Amino acid sequence: MKDTPSKPRKPRTNAVHAGIRRSQFGEVSEAMFLTQGFVYPTAEDAEERFLNSSRENFIYARYGNPTVAMFEDRIAALEGTEDAFACASGMAAVNGTMMSILKAGDHVVAARALFGSCLYILEEILPRFGVEVTLIDGTDLEAWKAALRPDTRVAFFETISNPTLEVIDIAGVADLAHAVGAVVVVDNVFATPTYSRALELGADVIVYSTTKHIDGQGRCLGGVICGKQEFVRGTAEPYLKHTGGSMSPFNAWVMLKGLEHLDLRVRAQTDTATKVAAALDGHPKLVRVLYPHDRSHPQYDLAIRQMEAGGTVLSFDIKGGKDAAYRFLNALEIIIISNNLGDAKTIATPPYTTTHQRLPEDRKAALGITPGLIRLSCGLEDTGDLIDDILNALDAA
Ligand SMILES: *Cc1c(COP(=O)(O)O)cnc(C)c1O
Repeated sequence: MKDTPSKPRKPRTNAVHAGIRRSQFGEVSEAMFLTQGFVYPTAEDAEERFLNSSRENFIYARYGNPTVAMFEDRIAALEGTEDAFACASGMAAVNGTMMSILKAGDHVVAARALFGSCLYILEEILPRFGVEVTLIDGTDLEAWKAALRPDTRVAFFETISNPTLEVIDIAGVADLAHAVGAVVVVDNVFATPTYSRALELGADVIVYSTTKHIDGQGRCLGGVICGKQEFVRGTAEPYLKHTGGSMSPFNAWVMLKGLEHLDLRVRAQTDTATKVAAALDGHPKLVRVLYPHDRSHPQYDLAIRQMEAGGTVLSFDIKGGKDAAYRFLNALEIIIISNNLGDAKTIATPPYTTTHQRLPEDRKAALGITPGLIRLSCGLEDTGDLIDDILNALDAA
């Protein structure tokens, strides 16, 4: 057994072993260092640690902690990036990335189909600090070309958008954004590290809400920023460690253990999502089914090119609007109504009246967020049981 690999390892191996730091006791399972701080044997040692604090030389958990460092190194190994910084939540990661890069006078171009809190940062917070934000249809490369300018510092998008599962051409946007010198920041939650090719396709910074698939059992909030070491340690970390956005050691331990079986879970959940999408195709009670690897998806060719599989989430629009959607939700017996995703439990969400409730009518319409829309995050239950539950509930709709 060697903690430092003599040759490159495959993702499944890294998911189990990367980043491990064993204590003097040689524990098998990674230790949870549930400590805010660290003891210095002497005053001289204290002075030395403050002078040379590092990722092996800890001083305070907001700055770094061994359990958090193990999680960071493991996810960086999985994502293929040089480094990673673990954050208190997905939003701490998105906000930390933006605030650490941008200054007054800068310009941001972002896809308009975004998680609600990401939109809040872009539309409410950044403009207060003199950052100009242009929101566009992220699926349209011509719109990116038209919006990007010499003063654009960041291009931001969800690689697969929530809840309508638009697929953005990462390589296409990255080429255009890099031509004006912008940093390409992607929110990669729906792709998951299992299907992510964001780095090789040109993304500079890859952000996850680890609350979703990486925890995978709905226990903790977390986020992570993956990228080049210079960016992660030189730009993002100083902002986050001084403003309180660091991940707690307990949450890092949960996420670290989650990474060990992330790949197995995501592939099983994706297999179910693929089968559910196929079972719903052409169902008479549905207006449409949205799943990236379903032939009817508007960007099917891109989704096939960019992603090995369609992911764990699908959406469908029930005929009859809100009333029919509510009858469907209330008739579900196994599937729960909630708003997490990537969980072991299959979750149905009506975005129109929950996650995207506050968006004005015209913007919901432009994004395809209709009153009958249901987002379904497939879990680990028996696929047949789930399809039965959905078909029965559709009868009630
Ligand atoms: C959940 C989510 C976030 C926010 O993450 P939190 O951990 O809830 O802060 C950001 N982006 C996407 C795409 C998400 O699904």
